[in-house]
This record gives sequence, structure tokens and C-alpha cells, in this order.
Amino acid sequence: MRIVYSPLDALKISRDNPDKTVIFFAIGFETTAPANAMAVLQAKAQNIQNFAVLVSHVTVPAAITALMESPDVRVDGFLAAGHVCTVMGYWEYEPLAERYNIPIVVTGFEPVDILHGILACVRMLEKGPRCASRGVQNAYARSVTRDGNKPAQAVINQVFEICDHAWRGIGIIPQSGYRLRQKFAFYDAEKRFPELQSIETKESPLCISGQVLLGVKRPNECPAFGMECTPQTPLGATMVSAEGACAAYYHYGRYNK
Ligand code: SF4
Repeated sequence: MRIVYSPLDALKISRDNPDKTVIFFAIGFETTAPANAMAVLQAKAQNIQNFAVLVSHVTVPAAITALMESPDVRVDGFLAAGHVCTVMGYWEYEPLAERYNIPIVVTGFEPVDILHGILACVRMLEKGPRCASRGVQNAYARSVTRDGNKPAQAVINQVFEICDHAWRGIGIIPQSGYRLRQKFAFYDAEKRFPELQSIETKESPLCISGQVLLGVKRPNECPAFGMECTPQTPLGATMVSAEGACAAYYHYGRYNK
């Protein structure tokens, strides 16, 4: 297994090792999908046969929908990730803000961006329920436009199609993932290597990350938090990545029991 900084690095490894088959693990939200789609297009254009992609892409609007449709949800508003919106724009969020009467603020990643996003979200909430001004605000205009990066979206749509996807801690969310279109099936690792389809993710019975994502429980209310589960020994998705809620609580709020 090798870590690469670009899917094109995986393509180069394929070219340099024609006697081996390279499987690139294509993961992430919409942010990483354009580059991964480009790698598939490049592989096809260069007729690279010993390259395949194991796709695990997910999409934000479907996740927001699933959270808001949950009867247990206690989420009052969303900070929409600026990198996702740089690619996708925020037009997809407008009907969600309206349907669920929630503020959604497109937010960047510097500390002042986060504060700006939270402030905008709170101001919209303070205007009261069913306020006409609730909707989507763009607090990251130096990078994000309403339409987003149209060429990047076109590449995603050329290579991927929407499919159901399993989310750790939540389960299957309909229409929440990408898979390769049939015309790129040769590069689909799951089709070329059927044994990959039998891989199952085993959730830890201790993990309550689904409730954390729903806002029902805080990370430090999980009995495994900071004990069996740490960033070095993560049991759930929200501890794995540095920006996950459990990892953030571990790094910045673990003493606030
Ligand atoms: S602390 Fe770990 S085990 Fe608990 S909810 Fe978070 S990721 Fe899951």
C-alpha cells in the first residue's frame, strides 16, 4: 500500500510497473471527485490497462437530507464546507435550506472563517423560526460562487453517476455516493475484482458516531471517548479524520466533560 498525493501519481506507478495492477482508493466528498475522475479519463486516453479505481465518494446534500429526515435530529444549522462548495457551488443547498427551514452558511477554514460562519448561522437562527431570511449565506466568497466550478462538475458527471452509499455510523443513505459509469467499468476495481465486493465494514459496538452526527450526543458523552477510542486508535469515522467531531473534541475539548 502506498500513499500518493495525487491520483495521477497512482497512474504513474501503473505506467512504471506494467507487470502489476494498481488499485487507487478514490475517497472523499465532491472535493476530490474531479481529480479522481480525471485520472480515470487519463487512464482511458492513455490505454493504461493495469489501473483500477476503488470508488468511495460521497455527496453532502444527500447527507444533509438524511440527517434532517431523522426523527432524532437536533441540528439547527449547517456550516457548508468551503472546499466542497468551491467545486459544487451552493445552488444545491438552497432547496434544502428552504425545505427544512435551516440556515446553511458556506464557510472557509481559517479560524476567522469559522467564527464568521458561526456568527452568520446564529444571526439567522436568532431571527426566529420560519424566518424568510433563513437560507444559504456565502461566508467564503473569496473562493466560492453560487454555481461553483462548472468544468469540474462536468468531469464528475462524465465519469461518475449517483448511487446509494453506506455511511459509517448511519447506514445506507439513498443517492448519496458516486460510482463509475458503465462506460468506465473496466477501471472499476469492484467489477474487475469481485472479491472486493465481499469486504464488509465492521462497526464497533461501542461507537455512537451516528448519534454524534445527529447532534443527539456530544463526543465526550461516548463511553469510549478518550479511552478505547483516540485519534491513534479510532473506532469511528468521526475520530478518524482530524476535522471529525470526536477528533476535534479530543484535541480541543477533552477536559470539558
Ligand atoms: S469517541 Fe470514538 S467510539 Fe465514541 S462516537 Fe466518537 S468515534 Fe465513535
